[in-house]
Amino acid sequence: MALVACPKCQKRISSLAKQCPHCKVDLSGNTESITIISHIERSNSLMNQSFLFLTLFIAGVVVWFWGGEPAQGLKSYFAIAMFVIGFVGYLVTRIRIVLHKRKSV
Ligand SMILES: [Zn+2]
Repeated sequence: MALVACPKCQKRISSLAKQCPHCKVDLSGNTESITIISHIERSNSLMNQSFLFLTLFIAGVVVWFWGGEPAQGLKSYFAIAMFVIGFVGYLVTRIRIVLHKRKSV
């Protein structure tokens, strides 16, 4: 008996398991298609996340420069927060996408 990664949730499970104890995926059939589908789903959710962070980043820039002048007071903190979270989140998500793509299907 060996430990293998579940094709769906990537948690360690027994190679003899008929069903993943974590995500309950059926492992008696063709697990290769489960691997490919979950890989694509993960790629899609990462792409959505990077898009959300990019939107937040742009929103921060828009709030900052709204009205032609740099924001002041509470509005500036709000803009900086969106800007930083969007920027860092976008970078982290891009790195996760690259790492994810490196994994073979
Ligand atoms: Zn699983």
